[in-house]
Amino acid sequence: MRRQVRKRSAPDSTVGCGPLIPPLVESARPLRQQVFERVRAAGLTARVQVARDLSVSPASVTTIVSELIEAGLVEEVATRREGESGRGRPVVALGVRAAAHRVVGLKISDRDLSAVVMDFAGHLLAEHHEERSPEALPPDRILGLIETLLDRVTTKAGLTRQDLSAVGIGLPGYVDSAGGRVLWSSILSERNVPLGRLVTERLGLPAQIDNDANLCAMAELWFGAGRRLSDFVVVTIEHGLGMGMVTNHRIFRGARGIGMELGHTKVQLDGALCRCGQRGCLEAYVADYALAREATTALNWTHRQTQSTAVLLESLHDHAKAGNQAARSIFRRAGRYLAVGLANVVNLVDPPLLILAGARLRFDYLYAEETLAEMNALVLETGRPLPEIEIHAWGEMLWAHGAAALALSALGERLLALPREGVAQ
Ligand SMILES: [Zn+2]
Repeated sequence: MRRQVRKRSAPDSTVGCGPLIPPLVESARPLRQQVFERVRAAGLTARVQVARDLSVSPASVTTIVSELIEAGLVEEVATRREGESGRGRPVVALGVRAAAHRVVGLKISDRDLSAVVMDFAGHLLAEHHEERSPEALPPDRILGLIETLLDRVTTKAGLTRQDLSAVGIGLPGYVDSAGGRVLWSSILSERNVPLGRLVTERLGLPAQIDNDANLCAMAELWFGAGRRLSDFVVVTIEHGLGMGMVTNHRIFRGARGIGMELGHTKVQLDGALCRCGQRGCLEAYVADYALAREATTALNWTHRQTQSTAVLLESLHDHAKAGNQAARSIFRRAGRYLAVGLANVVNLVDPPLLILAGARLRFDYLYAEETLAEMNALVLETGRPLPEIEIHAWGEMLWAHGAAALALSALGERLLALPREGVAQ
């Protein structure tokens, strides 16, 4: 086995101290990218405001804006000063040229598929949702599924594949977003699949992939409560349990790309079997497949095997509401484990805001007073207020929005961060 533990002797005082940061390791984003991002975030803004926001001279902003306008990425929009009558002199504002590019965001989960088309300014052009039967498929079939889904939503938007500039894809599992590789996913029957490259080859479009929980954080960061926050945590609960963390306005994926696997943190030694193959994972007590498993055992619902998990869960929820003690205790137990997981996040990360998100959040056990009270009891007593908790039931399109944001973000980097001659297309 690979040696993981290395012993070191005391440091040599002759070699200096402090972090060894190579020059420009954290290369600042080019000013034109910063200008573009300011304009995109503002919706409409003025050159002078951009200069003020970035603490640079108005002259340099003017030069960069001219370049961005020439490149067709930004445009001037005539607006009127607030409070002025229709006769007031129009003011020229800057905005992203929405028609410059379009991207597709896709989410593939065990149970459903969702997709959106967005323009370059992040406006929603079309959306599509369909169910699928939970099944781990070989890469080729997943590619076929992605292609069909992309074509369906593109057609809904009145566009063709040629009109698209990028695609972002979210899926459950261990996803190395930077390397475009899926190390493991419940939707794939093979491990270590270079899905990003395969999608790019199949569709002829630059593709960016990511773990679905990260896309949930991305959706909050681009379109939701996280827009104004530099740091927050999103915990997603649906078929699995995921976590996305934003630090300094960026998704933090762990130094090697696959961190934040809250669902697979252990809450019980030798506990319930998780679909990752290990035992005692939080997900194995909280995710809907865990509830479904409990229901089939505790309520003797063996005949329900043909039913989808969603139908089974609805039924379990109805029983709990009607006062069935066995059904209630299943939710209560899951809620207690969730409280442990959330308290661990708070104790580790100390976030100002913790968002609980997902399509399944209508099951009120998840955010029942009891669960939150239990969480609060497990959070360290520091004398300061607890982090804010928000419940976001965006519905099933949340992830696809995040996937589109991922595509827009990668597209922006490609168009603006690299030298022109280095841009592939
Ligand atoms: Zn696990």
